[in-house]
Amino acid sequence: MSSSTSQIISNTANLEKYLKLPQHGKIMAEYVWIDGSNGIRSKSRTLNSKPEKVEDLPEWNFDGSSTGQAPGNNSDVYLRPVAFYPDPFRLGDNIIVMTETWGADGKPNPFNFRHDAAILMEAHAKHEFWFGLEQEYTLLDIEGWPYGWPKNGFPAPQGPYYCGVGTGKVFCRDIVEAHYKACLYAGLNISGTNAEVMPAQWEYQVGPCDGISMGDQLWISRFFLHRVAEEFGAKVTFAPKPIPGDWNGAGLHTNVSTKETRAEGGMKAIEEAMEKLSKRQAEHMAVYGEDNQLRMTGKHETSSFDKFTWGVANRGSSVRVPRSVAAEGKGYFEDRRPASNGCPYQITGIVVETLCGKVEG
Ligand code: ADP
Ligand code: MN
Ligand code: MN
Ligand code: MN
Ligand code: MN
Repeated sequence: MSSSTSQIISNTANLEKYLKLPQHGKIMAEYVWIDGSNGIRSKSRTLNSKPEKVEDLPEWNFDGSSTGQAPGNNSDVYLRPVAFYPDPFRLGDNIIVMTETWGADGKPNPFNFRHDAAILMEAHAKHEFWFGLEQEYTLLDIEGWPYGWPKNGFPAPQGPYYCGVGTGKVFCRDIVEAHYKACLYAGLNISGTNAEVMPAQWEYQVGPCDGISMGDQLWISRFFLHRVAEEFGAKVTFAPKPIPGDWNGAGLHTNVSTKETRAEGGMKAIEEAMEKLSKRQAEHMAVYGEDNQLRMTGKHETSSFDKFTWGVANRGSSVRVPRSVAAEGKGYFEDRRPASNGCPYQITGIVVETLCGKVEG
């Protein structure tokens, strides 16, 4: 640690006794939103009673000029609650509130990608889209170097780390475990977690989730990860190629199914979906995350950035149809192209648009 960096003083053991103090019926609500650079922000307010439904939650606002979301001379951005979850940090009746950002002109904020996605999902609700996202990420120390890596060098090549167990193979498992439990406590549909190919790289999966709730849950799970890691003094990076060179990048594999693909003979619907996806490669890549071309080199289990391909059990293609799905003739497909920093509202939104058609917002 450099001399200019002060020690982390976060001490959750000390915090514990204050968390137990009575609140006299008041509720702490943490409003979460997405800022102007794909980051997450939040602030707290006190509510006088426990909300039963999302409509019970008041609209709120913030200074959009401080988050890259509005000009200084017209800086109020409104926060409209869309979902809420039990708060795994404050416990009790306290809640985490997912919100959409809106302008004073009654229009969605330019960074409110949920709005258009929700319209698409609603219009095509009869297809009953399910999504499952595999969120990869890397844990860094305060100076931005992956945990467990030698200070002025690199660890031994990839091989022993993926799903690894034991000192020197995996790093920061406490953070992963704490995050997993926090997600479960909040009722998120987290479906698993595993150590990844690069040391200090991890993955968790959320899903299957219905339509728009996929984006809500994934964003909240990212918020939890940053929040948990903060208590351990670690940084989370969702960069798709955090370390240049012969190290795996990080993705957000997007598993997709519809009523039709899950039905008997659904393989036909999957093939039709492939045909549609093959015609919109550039449109998809445009919203599949920043710096994704650094990751999609065709090496390290990635496909080409420019060309759409699909195949059964092929991890080098844009879309993989799991072997078990091909064998059963129905199920889901895995779009392997999205980068780890992609916005799940944009990703799931364009999948619905490509498969089912545009909707006038
Ligand atoms: P991989 O073998 O690619 O590492 P994972 O086990 O990490 O796969 O993730 C698989 C994901 O697929 C999970 O998030 C799961 O929820 C999701 N999934 C499973 N079945 C479906 C389905 N029918 N529709 C959409 N997503 C699904
Ligand atoms: Mn103020
Ligand atoms: Mn996976
Ligand atoms: Mn993975
Ligand atoms: Mn995968």
